[in-house]
Amino acid sequence: MSIKSLLFPTRQLCYLCKEKTPYLKSFTCTQCYEKLDFVYKEVEIDSLYIDRVFYALTYNRYLRELMHDFKFNRKSYLYKPFSKFIISMIKEKGIEGIDLIMFIPIHRRKEAIRGYNQSELLATYISKELNIPISRGNLIKKKWTREQNTLDRIQRLNNLRESFSIKKPEEITGKRILLIDDILTTGATFNECSKTLNKNGAKAITALALTSSKTI
Ligand SMILES: [Zn+2]
Repeated sequence: MSIKSLLFPTRQLCYLCKEKTPYLKSFTCTQCYEKLDFVYKEVEIDSLYIDRVFYALTYNRYLRELMHDFKFNRKSYLYKPFSKFIISMIKEKGIEGIDLIMFIPIHRRKEAIRGYNQSELLATYISKELNIPISRGNLIKKKWTREQNTLDRIQRLNNLRESFSIKKPEEITGKRILLIDDILTTGATFNECSKTLNKNGAKAITALALTSSKTI
């Protein structure tokens, strides 16, 4: 390593635009940051099993494109800024007293096709940054289901019924869980996972999503 590179560390470029713009915070440059609409919003969802639900950002056109890249165009590195946005919300909202971080699982066949579970990437980074243990491979999606966004409300609820399960209930017994997903649509996925966690002994569940396409 040359002395020059020690004195002038490599510029850290914005993860969102990948332009030659250094990022200032959360791996994001000022221009990109301004295109994001931070709301840190608490949502009421119809669920007996979840204590609180929050999302960080409005699902605007800019974020929608980024989310599409994150999920389908293999831009998995976007987990870094996205996780930072969720962590900012956790701090801003004073969400505390969490024993275990979990994430919405996807079917192993889908994960094999995509190469990763985007919610697991978020949860892993958040777990490391906040120094809270993560549970992996315990909550699983056992049933292959149709994409939730292709269905109406009633179909969505039926589609997910009994589709998740817990392998090691002892890991979650009495635990206060932070459940992470990338996007909140109707809340049906959060609800069904929380139902499974609850039935297996979880004490409390706070659900967090990066964004929400839920229309109220
Ligand atoms: Zn940028």
